[in-house]
Amino acid sequence: MTATPLADTLRRLLGPGKPEVTCETCFDLLDQYVDAEVLGQDADAAGPGLRAHLDGCPACADENDTLRALVAFE
Ligand SMILES: [Zn+2]
Repeated sequence: MTATPLADTLRRLLGPGKPEVTCETCFDLLDQYVDAEVLGQDADAAGPGLRAHLDGCPACADENDTLRALVAFE
């Protein structure tokens, strides 16, 4: 059986383990994550794994707070 890189990536994203989100990914997705959150949409779909990352990463959680305040202000 041969595993393609794509299947491997998908398994990592969808598999039983927690998806690993780096700070870089978090920053990339934070915009749309906060947007979805503020608009009452599915934030988890907008930024898969971000919630878990924000829970464990004070720096990104801080950025999240700042962004949310900005979006709420607009
Ligand atoms: Zn982070």
